[in-house]
Amino acid sequence: MRKPFVAGNWKMNTDSHSGPALAKAVADGSTEWAGSSVTVAVIPPFVYLPPVGQAVSSSGVAVGAQDIYFEEKGAFTGEISPGMLKDVGCTYALCGHSERRHVLGESDEIVNKKVLASIAGGLLPILCVGELLEERDAGQTEQVVERQVKEGLANVTAEKAPAVTIAYEPVWAIGTARTATPEQAQEVHAFIRKLIAQMYGEDLAQEMRLLYGGSVKPGNAAELMGQEDVDGSLVGGASLKADDFLGIIKAAV
Ligand code: PEP
Repeated sequence: MRKPFVAGNWKMNTDSHSGPALAKAVADGSTEWAGSSVTVAVIPPFVYLPPVGQAVSSSGVAVGAQDIYFEEKGAFTGEISPGMLKDVGCTYALCGHSERRHVLGESDEIVNKKVLASIAGGLLPILCVGELLEERDAGQTEQVVERQVKEGLANVTAEKAPAVTIAYEPVWAIGTARTATPEQAQEVHAFIRKLIAQMYGEDLAQEMRLLYGGSVKPGNAAELMGQEDVDGSLVGGASLKADDFLGIIKAAV
């Protein structure tokens, strides 16, 4: 049985007051489930990682980073290393979120370096994959997702692969209120699980958690996460309101 996993990507939102307050409200509202029956993570902007970490420190809520750099230290102005993220209490790191791929131009090669650096640095990567609308319309969803999964996990050994979570986030469903149907989500998740089985064997494929992301809300979360191969959600907009995020966490239990 895969434990459900709900992660809230706050993107470039919140501030030094509202971030810790949101994190505390999530921690207080999820004590019954967080860490025991469902993995819960909040993923604030880098600068609020320490106060958010403090706000959830005695709870079952984990903290993640929205990005990571693949070098440990040196002349990389503006970047944040795996060691720095570990140092401020991060457990997870998003790698290859679609906004980084499509707004900031990250390639599969860079995403792969980030996945490898996360694992080497003791962090658990959440590898984000997903097709653009034109790619879906052109019937290329599986081709795109296969490339992103294979290239994102290049040189990740079978021994290290259990550290990885994959989030399938169709780009056309992110922040658009246009959610994939449960059937569309299940179809791609089953495809990804089959790919993982080909790459690492059936046992690991059954163990790896695959999250869906794209306009998940309390009202659609249960049906999406009720699909056989959907093990949780990566939530953007709805993770900025404690009640909505808690509603999604409850739907995962
Ligand atoms: C995301 O940013 O990963 C996301 C899924 O956003 P939203 O839930 O707002 O679509």
